[in-house]
Amino acid sequence: MDDLLQRLRQFHDDFFPQHQARFEDLVKEGQHPSTLFIGCSDSRLVPYLLTGAGPGELFIVRNVGALVPPYDGLHGLHGTAAAIEYAMLNLKVSRIVVCGHSHCGAMKALYDEIPAQAKNLRGWLDMAREAALPVQVSPEALRRTEQRAVVLQLERLMDYPMVRERVEKHEVTLHGWHYVIEEGEVHVFDVRSGQFTPASLSEHSGTGPYHDAPRDAPPDEQSIFNEIDDRLAGH
Ligand SMILES: [Zn+2]
Repeated sequence: MDDLLQRLRQFHDDFFPQHQARFEDLVKEGQHPSTLFIGCSDSRLVPYLLTGAGPGELFIVRNVGALVPPYDGLHGLHGTAAAIEYAMLNLKVSRIVVCGHSHCGAMKALYDEIPAQAKNLRGWLDMAREAALPVQVSPEALRRTEQRAVVLQLERLMDYPMVRERVEKHEVTLHGWHYVIEEGEVHVFDVRSGQFTPASLSEHSGTGPYHDAPRDAPPDEQSIFNEIDDRLAGH
């Protein structure tokens, strides 16, 4: 028997009977997850372990780099954008987590040559290019790039009208996370301090209600990305 088949049988024989009632409820009542979790595809990031969530609690979309495509001007097929729309309009989640992590291959690839054959990967990573720094790659630069990318995706989420509206009404909160694999700890983005704080020291699990953009500020002043960038750099 191959190992995957063995695991499928284990799930059915061992895990399922212990949780059968929960699964039956989820079928009868439908799913009502509270959280849209946008995470990197990296195999070391395990959303259920990090959050202690079980079936029915997380609506998960994962992709290379935990990236959020721009709402407007999309060309091609965008599963991630579709998932965001579905989570907001149908499931009406109350939290959106964007979870990047340490040692992210996608962020490192921003500093490497990408093989010409990987044309989809190249195009995809362009969405994170703004997070890359004009410096020699180093562990410190990568850490900052990973964190900058998370903030950039939060910013991009706010361009989705169904996200912005509900965030501004305080019905939805945004949570920017940087999971440090070797520490076993998520560092949580605080929009007020512009810093990522280890969960053990943080007072909340995310930005809380995203701060309202000043109504009459010019568009570039509404960008938290640039404003926060200096603080991530430790200035
Ligand atoms: Zn990654």
